[in-house]
Amino acid sequence: MLDQPLHPDTVAVHAGRADLAALGVHAAPIDLSSTNPLPDIQHGGDSYESMANGGHPLPDGGNVYARLWNPTVARFEEGLAELEHAEAAVAFSSGMAAMTAAILSHTTAKGLKHVVAVRPLYGGTDHLLDSGLLGAEVTFCAEDEVHAHLRPDTGLVVLETPANPTLDLVDIAGVVAQAGEVPVLVDNTFATPLLQNPLDLGAALSLHSATKYIGGHGDVIAGVIACSEETAQALRRVRAITGALLHPLGAYLLHRGLATLPIRIERQQQSAERVVAWLAQQPEVAEVFYPGIGDHRGLIPRQMRGGGAMIAIRLRDGYAAAEALTGSVQLFTHAVSLGGVDSLVQHPAALTHRPVAAAARPGADIVRISIGLEDVEDLIGDLAQALSRVTAAVR
Ligand SMILES: *Cc1c(COP(=O)(O)O)cnc(C)c1O
Repeated sequence: MLDQPLHPDTVAVHAGRADLAALGVHAAPIDLSSTNPLPDIQHGGDSYESMANGGHPLPDGGNVYARLWNPTVARFEEGLAELEHAEAAVAFSSGMAAMTAAILSHTTAKGLKHVVAVRPLYGGTDHLLDSGLLGAEVTFCAEDEVHAHLRPDTGLVVLETPANPTLDLVDIAGVVAQAGEVPVLVDNTFATPLLQNPLDLGAALSLHSATKYIGGHGDVIAGVIACSEETAQALRRVRAITGALLHPLGAYLLHRGLATLPIRIERQQQSAERVVAWLAQQPEVAEVFYPGIGDHRGLIPRQMRGGGAMIAIRLRDGYAAAEALTGSVQLFTHAVSLGGVDSLVQHPAALTHRPVAAAARPGADIVRISIGLEDVEDLIGDLAQALSRVTAAVR
């Protein structure tokens, strides 16, 4: 490798591929083995023991069994860790499996009971925390109340920024300072490692629903957490025990997705900024939510290098308008999820945030928009025709 710090665009293309030339291949190999031949009982057993405790396979003992370790998954993890400036990363079968492992490894696995969670959060995360399923007690609070809610048995602080669905920004370094010794997990799904690196701001874990921007093509469900090697061991232990490993075909697609992540983000963000400016002029739109709007603390650029490509709007005519808009778009797909090459619209209160307690649920007048790679004039044209139907529908 070059003896100079590499730009993230370069890291995104090359990370996790250093050994390919020596293997005599250009594309990363996909290892689909569910089990692996054992050299002998002793070495196989020692390697098993290492991995069951969250460690790596031992070189003379092999990978043993794919729930414990998969080389294709490990390659993707190496690439993601490098982009997040982290020692390690651990990939899971979904973003929610990653969140589950983070909570378990920081609470029950350590004899701790309590989590502090800053709202708003993705509906699934809110639901998981609120359900009590994992045996942890959860206090939901606002960003400036974290310190006040810490207890001696608090094992983790959870926050999301920009937060789903209204793109609220949370001051990561500020929450880290309030949390003191307690590790802080940042859900970095909306920003991606290209726009924000929570570990550089003192967070202990940076979590992604890799289903979204990292995969980027709407064909993989996955999660990944960047963190220290010590934390990675605790996460891999939970992953091995609970069976939440990412499938190697998914890992291959995610690793391939990393290479185009910088250029996708750059272009999608550029289009989103244009769409935001246009939406702000539309009479049907009461309010536009986009990172940076109303950001009086300068969190862009202090913690985030741009606003990203997610937008939310509040419609002047409420639910009826949301129904007309989501039912009238033609280029945009009316679907949950986000961060892919194609643009999506969805209604958070009815769908992604449906399980959130009523008091914390987004309004029925809010629609969330994910901007993809289509030509921005075509996207604005589609929104214009859909908004004209909103006017017709509510008149
Ligand atoms: C989608 C999403 C998740 C959950 O990820 P899955 O891959 O769907 O399990 C978590 N956090 C955020 C911000 C998300 O958008």
